[in-house]
Amino acid sequence: CGIVGVLGNHEAAPLLVEALKRLEYRGYDSAGIATVNDGKLERRRAVGKLVNLSDLLVHEPLAGKSGIGHTRWATHGEPSVNNAHPHRAGAVSVVHNGIIENYRDLRAELAKEGIEFQTETDTETVALMTERYMRGGLSAAEAAQKTLSRLEGAFALAFLFDGEEDLMVAARKGSPLAIGHGTGEMFVGSDAIALAPLTDKITYLEEGDCAVLTRSSLEIRDANGDLANREMRTIQIDA
Ligand code: GLU
Repeated sequence: CGIVGVLGNHEAAPLLVEALKRLEYRGYDSAGIATVNDGKLERRRAVGKLVNLSDLLVHEPLAGKSGIGHTRWATHGEPSVNNAHPHRAGAVSVVHNGIIENYRDLRAELAKEGIEFQTETDTETVALMTERYMRGGLSAAEAAQKTLSRLEGAFALAFLFDGEEDLMVAARKGSPLAIGHGTGEMFVGSDAIALAPLTDKITYLEEGDCAVLTRSSLEIRDANGDLANREMRTIQIDA
């Protein structure tokens, strides 16, 4: 029920957990984060309150300055560690709010190719489909964009990739998503409140937008795939 993302210059894990705390008001049943460190994608997930995730991170820390985080309100698949986000398929990791309405059709399409599923979630199809497009030769960003064009429903998504420490893809259709601008850093959050301690410079994605972020760039395309100009505003929220 909450999404955060960091392409930063500091350890991402504590920033992600702090940002997720600021989204706790939305309610959730489990939480998780993924980071890329030395090119390697890794994740930690826990059922229940964020403190359970924090405790897990004490015992099994997650290094890295790029990461995504999620608080889940289960709609497809019971609340469990295995169904908690971030989901992973090969080089692709994804966090998702909302519902992929046509996930059964997409699942059937993937199953026909012998692709196997680890979870009961609608979200895992997004990771698997993106991974499959990458195997077909598309770049990470292209594969995510192609997957997005296939999705029906109301959702917000953030993608992180193995081997890519300076790349994130974020998209919204029906669920809000804000991009935060730092100094040589870039952030993503379900709302600007999550990012308040990190930045007050916010670009709100519009309906159907897909953003490709690096630490120093933000490229937004609209629902037609055309480059879009979205205004950056300085907002006032108490950190
Ligand atoms: N539909 C997804 C799931 O059940 C995402 C739920 C959410 O918005 O947290 O895992």
